Amino acid sequence: MTDRIPLAIPNIGQGEAKNLQRCVKTNFVSSVGEFVNQLEDRIATLSGTGEGVAMGAGTLALHMALHSYGIGKGDLVILPSFTFIASANAVMHSGARPWLFDVTEESWTIDPAQVRHELKKNTFRENGVLKYNKTGERVAAIMPVYTLGTPAYMNALNSIARDYGIPIIADAAAAIGVTYKNQAIGQAADLTCYSFNGNKTITCGGGGMVVGKEKSRLERIKHISTTARISKDYDHDEVGYNYRMTNLQAAVGCAQLDRLNNFLHIKTKIRKAYDAAFQDIQGISKFPYPDDRTSTCWFSGIVVDKTHPTPSEICERLNDYNIEARVFWKPVHLQKPYSKAPVADQSYTENIYKRIVTLPCSTSLVKPDLTRVITAVREILGAT
Ligand SMILES: *Cc1c(COP(=O)(O)O)cnc(C)c1O
Repeated sequence: MTDRIPLAIPNIGQGEAKNLQRCVKTNFVSSVGEFVNQLEDRIATLSGTGEGVAMGAGTLALHMALHSYGIGKGDLVILPSFTFIASANAVMHSGARPWLFDVTEESWTIDPAQVRHELKKNTFRENGVLKYNKTGERVAAIMPVYTLGTPAYMNALNSIARDYGIPIIADAAAAIGVTYKNQAIGQAADLTCYSFNGNKTITCGGGGMVVGKEKSRLERIKHISTTARISKDYDHDEVGYNYRMTNLQAAVGCAQLDRLNNFLHIKTKIRKAYDAAFQDIQGISKFPYPDDRTSTCWFSGIVVDKTHPTPSEICERLNDYNIEARVFWKPVHLQKPYSKAPVADQSYTENIYKRIVTLPCSTSLVKPDLTRVITAVREILGAT
């Protein structure tokens, strides 16, 4: 039997081991340490922003970003339904609720035209506060998701955000290192949140970060995510959180960051290889890649139409070849905890989410294995 080809696994090497050993040797294993500072500085710079605050997870980064704007009970946050459930969970953790939107075919990111239309049709102003017609909840922020590591339509979204006076908090979970219209993505939103979970573009084992332009806001995020302490003598000025990243996690992250360009190169190559390998097959299309922005190509794969076996069937058949493949995100509005969330028309989301197959795309994927995946998929699709 051939070895199993996993979908997406971390790529950990000597650099990560060396940094971890340094943590052990210096005894800096907790939430203070040189690697945490280094990771914050480097990722803030890479994002085109001044400041970064490292967290224990991407979900926590989103929660703290929302909290820093005073978003909580009685508020709605605009986000796409086609996302990993953690985006919506972070909104709920803050006390607010999501208002769910559709995505476009060209990018699989939130449809700005729909957002503008719905805001015009379904909101009103009361004492200067933007409110949702049906419930009177405040519409407090827009949270675009950079699906597959591809930025959303940030020019259009910023124009909406300006017109309505609400901030943009970007869920850039897997989008580290990309650009939007030739600019690092940290400039495209008020706050940008990354995840460094095991399957993301780079990993800390687990982890996350908020970056942004506004120094005072990032200082506030650091304050509330570290128990809101104001002195060494156990003085705290509000209910804080213990959400900080540890030096052990950051040690892995710094070594991963050294390899980011290489990882992005490999991820892009895998995307191109799949795009080329299946382009002759009727009823198979590519993952979107708009040409005014770059993408980490976090996941790659195929979109299959109804003439082919379903994505679940394809994944099952690939399993017989000892290849791991998976369907992609089930939209938030179809998830049990969100069945009552306000939701705009989901025509494209409901159409696309059932047609995606994600294929092996680890940065450690070797050429013969890539060929094995391509051959297997072609066989399953009857295109030998
Ligand atoms: C992974 C992910 C998150 C959550 O990040 P964690 O670090 O796992 O908490 C949020 N949003 C999106 C789009 C993700 O892919």
